[in-house]
Order: sequence, then C-alpha cells, then structure tokens
Amino acid sequence: MTVLDRADAVDNGLVARITDGPGGYTGVNGDEEWAAEIRRLATLRNATILAHNYQLPAIQDVADHVGDSLALSRIAAEAAEETIVFCGVHFMAETAKILSPEKTVLIPDQRAGCSLADSITAEELQAWKDEHPGAVVVSYVNTTAAVKALTDICCTSSNAVEVVASIPADREVLFCPDQFLGAHVRRMTGRTNLHVWAGECHVHAGINGDELADQARSHPDAELFVHPECGCATSALYLAGEGAYPADRVKILSTGGMLDAAKASHAKQVLVATEVGMLHQLRRAAPGIDFQAVNDRASCKYMKMITPAALLRCLVDGADEVDVDPETARLARASVQRMIEIGQPGGGE
Ligand code: SF4
Repeated sequence: MTVLDRADAVDNGLVARITDGPGGYTGVNGDEEWAAEIRRLATLRNATILAHNYQLPAIQDVADHVGDSLALSRIAAEAAEETIVFCGVHFMAETAKILSPEKTVLIPDQRAGCSLADSITAEELQAWKDEHPGAVVVSYVNTTAAVKALTDICCTSSNAVEVVASIPADREVLFCPDQFLGAHVRRMTGRTNLHVWAGECHVHAGINGDELADQARSHPDAELFVHPECGCATSALYLAGEGAYPADRVKILSTGGMLDAAKASHAKQVLVATEVGMLHQLRRAAPGIDFQAVNDRASCKYMKMITPAALLRCLVDGADEVDVDPETARLARASVQRMIEIGQPGGGE
C-alpha cells in the first residue's frame, strides 16, 4: 500500500476536526474543500473510490464509481489502482477482497455492518447443515465471507429463483439469511423441501403491506419501483406479489434497470421501495420525475456511517483494512462464481 506522509494531509486543518463517536466519525462537512482533499489524497495513495448506491450524496459524488455491490466488486477486480476504498458495508468490502485478493481493500469505518448479514453466523450455518446432511446451501450475497465459504451457491434477488430451480427437486435446500426472499422463492418454485432461515434486515420494517396499500390508494397515478437487491425491499417484493399494490403499476428492478426505467418513464411520480440513498441516483437520472420513498425512514444506519470524516480518515491513515484469510476466500469465491453463472444475477444489493 502506498504510504502517505500524514503531515501532507493536515495542512488545511480538516483532519484535526475528525471526531470519533458511537455513530461513527463526524466533524467534517462534505463540501468542496473536503472533496478536493479527498481526490488529492486518493491520487497520492493510488486508490480508487467505490461508493454503493445507498451512500450519502457527498460520498456518491466524490467517488470514482457508484453502483451495487457486485458491480463494484467487478470494477475493483479490474481497477488499475493498487488500493480499493469501498464506501459501503463490511460484507461488500469483503466480497471485493474475495474477488481481488492481491489488492489492498479499505473501508472507511469497519463498524459499518449489516443486520441481515449478521443474522446468521458461520457456526449457526454449520449447525443447520449438520441437521440436514446432504442439503444444498443457497445464501443471499448479504452474508459474511465465512458464511459464503460454507455455501454451495450464492444468489442475488434477481437470480434466487433460478438458482433454487437449478437444484435437483429431490435435494433439500437451506436458504439463508433473508426470510422474505426465501418466502418469495418458495412461492415461485412451489418447493416444499426448501428451509428458510429467519433472518431480516432492520430497514425492511419500514416497508410493510399496509403502508404499500395506503400509498397505492393515495397516489393512484404513481408507479412503484421495487429494488429487491437489498434486504430492506425484499418485504416489498413479497407484498407486491401478494397484491398489496396493483400489479400493473409495480416494476421490480435492479439498480441498472431502475435507472433505465427512470429515464424511459412518462410517469409524473414514482414511489420507490428501497433504501432512501437510491433516490439520489434516480433524481439525477430523471430530474423531471417526482421520486418519493415508500417510507423515508428506510435508511440504513450502517451505510450512513461512511461519513465525509470517515472517508478522510481512511485516506489519511490507510484504515480500516479488510482482510479475508486465503482458504475462506477460496471457498467463498467458488460460491460467488457459481452465482454469477446462473441466470441474471444482476448486481447484488
Ligand atoms: S439496508 Fe439492510 S440489508 Fe442493506 S446493508 Fe443495510 S442492514 Fe444490510
């Protein structure tokens, strides 16, 4: 990793303002002076900055690339820079490391976890496997590297149904960790030997059936975009399938699909069922459309821990570094690779 002279970054006083607290690093505004310093430090460090769609607008705007986790991991693997700064949550930075083991991968705050990924540990998965010998394990990409290493095939919400359908009908399937995606897959495949782990994302609670039905009644002309590449919207995916919103106005879309649909849409208003950070990209793509969150409380506190102060600290100190032990990475890479080979995996969350 390129070593920086720390004194080089403190001249303008920004670094001295960084404060560490329980919610993350604060004290620095994401203004133009900050953005210029971030760009300068990234060049000095020979780093590329990747930002997930759910990041704060200032982080998205200063990044080299914005996208979903899988697209960003692929960009990381192809990048010429030796250091990847991954502005997202920890399992995403791990996935980038799994796919680019030779690169230095940094996350601006390693405390940025994911409640869905945390809802199953490797020990819990191993115990579940022991109860069902011979079962095929399918895991959503929102899982730790250790869980991926115990998984046969990873999936995204775009290809979860196809992944499960590719498994011989007489084999038991263990599906984790997202119970809403699992219920959706069970309904679509009609499979009775599919066991679903009872995990969930804390943000999904902000998107429930009553709320969706209310929104449909009070916005009779609005379209509904559901972005299921995230635990926060898999409940909307499930509820839309149950008829909580008129089917002809529902579009289930990946990140790229959502941006394309926004540009092509003639709707005056679009309701969006996903984490609120996605609205920034949509409003940029189609400024003429009124995009509203189905629930504006659907904000991921972990994603928002990647603050301007955290990114500055990351580039100055070369921290926090993400590491995955080589054997775990090898096994995890195999399950991610199988996911990429089946159907249209889309981009992950
Ligand atoms: S929105 Fe939910 S699933 Fe997505 S990163 Fe945050 S906690 Fe995890």
